[in-house]
Amino acid sequence: MKNLLRTWNGSSPPQVAPPRDDVAHRLAVFEDIERGHSGWFWATDAAGRLTYISPSACERFGLAVEALLGQPFTSLFEADPEHPDERSERPLQFLFGAHARLADVTVRLVPERCGPGARPAWWALSGLPKLDVAKPGSAKSESGGAFHGYRGSARDITLEYERRIEDSRLAEFDSLTGLANRHRIFRRFDQMLAAFKGTLRPATLMMLDLDRFKHVNDTLGHPAGDELLRQVGQRLTRVVGSAGEIGRLGGDEFQVVLADQEDRGKLGELAEKIIGVVSQPYKIDDNHVVIGVSIGMAIAPFDGTEREEIIRAADLALYAAKHGGRGQFRFYSSDLKDEKEERRLLEDALRDAIASVDGPVDSWDEPQLSMVYQPVVRTEDHAVVGFEALMRWDHPTRGPIPPTVFIPVAEDSGMILQLGAWALRQAARDATAWPHPLRIAVNVSAVQFAHPDFPGVVSDVLDATGLDPDRLELELTESVFMGDGDVTDGAFKALKLLGVRLALDDFGTGYSSLSYLRAAPFDKLKVDRSFVDSCTLSEQNSAKIIAAIIGLADALGMEATVEGVEAFDQRDVVCATGARLIQGFLYSPPLEQAAVLERMRTDALHIPPDGPKRHRPERRSVYRRIGVIHEDHRYEALLRNLSATGAGIEGLVGVPVGTSLVLDLGAGQLAVVTVSRSEDATIGVEFETPLVSDGAGGLVTRYRASSYALAAAARMASTSTPQFLEVEVRKRA
Ligand code: C2E
Ligand code: MG
Ligand code: MG
Repeated sequence: MKNLLRTWNGSSPPQVAPPRDDVAHRLAVFEDIERGHSGWFWATDAAGRLTYISPSACERFGLAVEALLGQPFTSLFEADPEHPDERSERPLQFLFGAHARLADVTVRLVPERCGPGARPAWWALSGLPKLDVAKPGSAKSESGGAFHGYRGSARDITLEYERRIEDSRLAEFDSLTGLANRHRIFRRFDQMLAAFKGTLRPATLMMLDLDRFKHVNDTLGHPAGDELLRQVGQRLTRVVGSAGEIGRLGGDEFQVVLADQEDRGKLGELAEKIIGVVSQPYKIDDNHVVIGVSIGMAIAPFDGTEREEIIRAADLALYAAKHGGRGQFRFYSSDLKDEKEERRLLEDALRDAIASVDGPVDSWDEPQLSMVYQPVVRTEDHAVVGFEALMRWDHPTRGPIPPTVFIPVAEDSGMILQLGAWALRQAARDATAWPHPLRIAVNVSAVQFAHPDFPGVVSDVLDATGLDPDRLELELTESVFMGDGDVTDGAFKALKLLGVRLALDDFGTGYSSLSYLRAAPFDKLKVDRSFVDSCTLSEQNSAKIIAAIIGLADALGMEATVEGVEAFDQRDVVCATGARLIQGFLYSPPLEQAAVLERMRTDALHIPPDGPKRHRPERRSVYRRIGVIHEDHRYEALLRNLSATGAGIEGLVGVPVGTSLVLDLGAGQLAVVTVSRSEDATIGVEFETPLVSDGAGGLVTRYRASSYALAAAARMASTSTPQFLEVEVRKRA
C-alpha cells in the first residue's frame, strides 16, 4: 500500500488495464476459477437435470462429464446422515422443489453415485433459480415467474467440514470410548424430558458403575485401565444397541438413556443382560481381567420430572445396588433416601461388633458375633462329612443382621481383614473339638485373599489351633481371580504348601471360566443354590446345569457339593444328577457349636432328610399398609405376604372369592388381582400380571401410574356405599 501511495503521489497514476465487458473475457475468468479448483459451476434445466458442471468437479465425482449430465441434480447429493447440518434446516430436495435460493447448503456426494476411487467429499452448494416473466407452457415458480432451472456454484469444504465434525465430536464424545460424553448425554436427556413432558412419555436413566475397576487400574496400570474402559464401551454398545444412548461420564461411570420404556420387567432384563456381558472376563495384554458392574435406574415422570431429580434418584439406586452386594441393579424407590446414612451407621456398629469379639481383653461388651456350622451330608448314607462355618451378627437393639448385608460393608471398609481372621481362628478352634476326619469349611472374601499376608494368617491359625490342614477347607469365589495374577498364583501355591483344601463357592453364578479350574488347585466345586431353587421347574435348564457341573467336577477329580436343598422333590432331582454331597435346610440349618457338640456326643452324625415334600417358591413375609380399591372405594389393609404371582392381605371382611380388586402398593404401583381365597379378615389374591424383581430381592409392578394419573383419580368422589367391612388388624409378634 505504501508503495502504491508513493507511486500515486508521484507523477503518473498506476497502469490499469481498461475494463473489458466482452464475453470472451468473462469466459476466461470463469475458466480460471474452474481450473484453479477454487470453485465450480453447475446448472440444471427446469426438470432439475444437470446441464452443466465444471470439468474439475467431475474429477471429484470420479466420473466423466457425460456420465453426470442429464442426471437429476439432487440425486447426486445427500445430507450427511450422521451429522445433519444444523444450519440448513431444510434438505436440498425441499429447497430445490420450492425453487428457493440455495446459500451454502452443506451436502456430501452420494458415495454410490461416484466412480471408483472417488474420495468422500462435502460441498457447500449455492445457487439461484433462473426465473423470468411467465411464458405460456413453462414451469411456474413460487414467485410467479417461469422457472428455467438453477445456476449455481459449489465449493469443496471437505477439510473444513471434517475438522468441524472432529471438533464437535471432541466436544460431544468421550475420546477414549467414542461414547457420548457427560455434556452430550445430559443434553440428550434434557431434550428428551422436555419433549416428553407434555405427552407423559417415560424416559429412563441407567447409571452404571464398574466394580473393582480401581483394582485393575492400580495393579495393571492406567493403559490397561483405559483399554478395559474401551472394551466395556464396546460391550455396552453391543447390548444396548439402538434401544438407548450410552455415555461415559468419566472414570468408570457410564450412563444409558432410554426413551419410551417404563416396563420394569424389561428394564430389569436389560440391566441383567448388561451385568452379565460386562462381567465376562476381559483379555488385556496377557492378563485375564474380571470386573463387575452395578446399575441404578430411575424413570421419569414417576421418579421425578427434572433432570437433576432423576439423576439424584438413579444415583441413590446405584449406591444401593453397589452396597447390596455388587453386580446388581436397583430401581429407585423413595425409601432408598436413607440408605447412605444407614450404611454409615452399619459401619460404626460393625466396628463395635468386631471389638466385642476381637477387642481388648478387658472389654465387657456382650459378644455380638458368632460362628454357626451347617452340616454337609453324604446323600448315600446321610452321614455328615463336614460343616460350613457361617458368620452371625446379633446386634443388641436391631437383632440379627444377615452376612449378605454386613460382609460387603466389612469388605468396603477394610474391616474384613480383621473379621475374616477372627472367623478363621474361631472356626478352626471349634473344629479341633470335633472328631477326625470331620472337615470345616470357612468362607474367605476376595479382599482377604488378595492381601499378601493371607497365607501367613492361615498358617498362624493352623499353628495356634493345631488343626490338621487337610481338615480345613477355604471357600473362595471366582472374584479372587479379578486382579493381579501374580499375587493370586502366589497365594494358591502358598496355601497348597500348607496343605489346606480349596473349594470354589457359588459355582455357576459368576463368570465361571473353565480356565480358572485349570489354573487353580481346587479340591471342590460348590453348586450355587440358585440352580437348586429352580431345578424342579421343568422349563428351566437348572437340573441339566447341575448335572454338567457335577460331571465336570468328576472329570477333574474334584468333589462337588450342591447347596440349598430345601425339599424332597429338589433332593430327588439333585440326586438324579449324580450329586453325592448336599448342604441344605432339608438336612439341617446351620447349628451353634453347642448343638454340634451335642450331636457328636449322642453320636447323631447321620442326619436323615426332613422337610417339605415339594419346594414352594418363596413367599416373602411383609407387613405393610396398602390400599385396596374396589369399584370406587378405597380400603386400607395389611399386606402380609407377597410372591411374584400372589399375595395375602388382612383387614377386609366379606370379600367373595372371584372378586376383582386393584391393589395400591404405593408409589404409583397399581396391580389388578382376583381373590382366590377368603376367610374371616384374610384374603388371598392372584396377580393378573406377575410382579418383577426390583434387583434387590424385592418385588415391584412392571408399570406404574404416574403421579398425574393418581392425582386425577383421587379427585373422583365415590358415590356408592362400601361393600366390604374394614377391620383393624394388629401386628402379630
Ligand atoms: P455361602 O458361602 O454360599 O453360604 C451358603 C448360604 O446359604 C448360607 O447363608 C446358608 O445359611 C444358606 N443356606 C444353606 N442351605 C440353605 C437352604 O436350604 N435354603 C436357603 N434358603 N439357604 C440355605 P448365610 O449364612 O446367610 O450366608 C450368606 C453368604 O454370606 C455366604 O454364602 C457367604 O458368601 C457369606 N458369608 C457367611 N459367613 C461368612 C464369613 O464368615 N466370611 C465371609 N467372607 N463370608 C461369609
Ligand atoms: Mg460358602
Ligand atoms: Mg455358596
